[in-house]
Amino acid sequence: QSQELSHVRIDYHAALLALQEQGTRMVCTGKMHTDRICRFDYLCYCTEAEEFIFFHSNASVMLPNLGPRRFQPALLDLSSVEDHNTQYFNFLELPAAALKYMPKPVFVPDVTLILNRFNADNLMHIFHDDLLPIFYTMQQYTDLDDEARLVFMEGWGEGSHFDLYRLLSSKQPLLKEHLRNFGKLMCFTKSYVGLSKMTTWYQYGFVQPQGPKANILVSGNEIRQFAYFIMDRLNITTEERPEGDDYIVVFSRASNRLILNEAELLLALAQEYKMRTVTVSLEDQTFASIVQLISAASMLVSMHGAQLIMSMFLPRGAAVIELFPYAVNPEHYTPYKTLASLPGMDLQYIAWRNTNEENSVAYPDRPWEQGGITHLEKEEQERILTSKEVPRHLCCRNPEWLFRIYQDTIVDIPSFLEVIREGLKVKPNLKKSKPASVIHPGRVRQPKCQTSVQAAHEAKLSVSWQIPWNLKYLKGKVPDANIACDRGVLTEQIVIKAPVDQSSAFPTSASPPHLRLRPRVGAVNHIITPEPRASLQHT
Ligand code: UDP
Repeated sequence: QSQELSHVRIDYHAALLALQEQGTRMVCTGKMHTDRICRFDYLCYCTEAEEFIFFHSNASVMLPNLGPRRFQPALLDLSSVEDHNTQYFNFLELPAAALKYMPKPVFVPDVTLILNRFNADNLMHIFHDDLLPIFYTMQQYTDLDDEARLVFMEGWGEGSHFDLYRLLSSKQPLLKEHLRNFGKLMCFTKSYVGLSKMTTWYQYGFVQPQGPKANILVSGNEIRQFAYFIMDRLNITTEERPEGDDYIVVFSRASNRLILNEAELLLALAQEYKMRTVTVSLEDQTFASIVQLISAASMLVSMHGAQLIMSMFLPRGAAVIELFPYAVNPEHYTPYKTLASLPGMDLQYIAWRNTNEENSVAYPDRPWEQGGITHLEKEEQERILTSKEVPRHLCCRNPEWLFRIYQDTIVDIPSFLEVIREGLKVKPNLKKSKPASVIHPGRVRQPKCQTSVQAAHEAKLSVSWQIPWNLKYLKGKVPDANIACDRGVLTEQIVIKAPVDQSSAFPTSASPPHLRLRPRVGAVNHIITPEPRASLQHT
């Protein structure tokens, strides 16, 4: 039974008693609804009303206790997309005494993570909005382990890649539609509601045209750790490839946004790079077999589209080449460029756009969601057809954007090769690329200011400090730091000479209050190596 709740037995009467006596308890993180995740004991859900219920008793806790502000606009975002008004979470309230008159609750014994998937039919959205945020929300709360239960409340069916969600825990995820099978009133013994937005890097253009998020908090390291987890769950192993067995993957779409001269493109790539080329598509291969191929590829070439999210499985040092149909400006649609360019992703990224309208095949007669425009006024159709570039626009139904992005393209080989020759500064090289971590120095220690009058018209201000504690364990030189080993103490020193003048900025008697002794903190990048450098150690 796929929707069976758990083999763990719970003492039903004890659970019911606890609910009746203690009611619901909620403690959340986050000051705003947009950064809030809440943990609940005994959060209930009424499947008939399709509402979550908070039962009040003498022992209930509701933190934050927002009063009516809980509805301005909501307690929290249930998906990882920020402040989307179709993705809000709230609950209704009842006194625990009302349980007497309600259907017998069914208890969910598993620790549950309750959330909305944002668009479960699109691979990019699945990874960016759901899988990564779920994975790192689970990392944040230790009881959301491999035994945790995921519950998707957005109300969709399984979607096109439900197996990917199954990788995140050993329990079958539940959909909203499944919940009614369990009864009229369900109570989650322990649950978390909401998702971490820490890993998302792109905003889809609901309030301003789409682009990278303003404050990206994720680096390539976390993306890759997640990618390795997925590969591990898919039983994919990355073997060392024999020298010279490099290859290029061309990711094609089989139903729309086609590359019309794919064979020619493959040949050109093979000749240019003296590598073999492989074509993949989500229509023809399994997800896992594509990951396997991509995970050892030197280059991934693809039309703009959700399949490009799989560039997160490329090895370090590989290149991503994204193709854009006629009249689409690559700079305006950068989810994959942003991903490839995250610090530590170590991918090269190049965009090519078709600038020749004759190499484009458009589909004005298709339904609007596939880019058709015949439903529009004649004048508007005419404007779109003569426009040379889609102007920036908001999400999600801009007809000019859909019309252009669903064109098929004949890739002009000379211009394509020129763009990658120009853009690929180094030949994609996987072997040389090693992970680098950035380490920030701590504060300088024991800062000292000393002043002395040198001569009648000259004073000396001497500033010295010991280098940050962690620097002595780092291999290599500290950029522009003048490190001296002074009787075993690592110090830095600068000397400022200034004329003696009572009105000058450096009085001779005291440290200048405006001279802050925190130089370069956070400005020096280091490669970590485990062993301390003998030559920099204390004696
Ligand atoms: N898709 C595909 N082959 C196609 C067209 C689409 O595999 O020929 C997949 C695509 O990767 C995505 C989903 O279908 O996961 C929805 O595609 P859509 O064109 O709506 O979105 P986009 O790729 O533009 O983000």
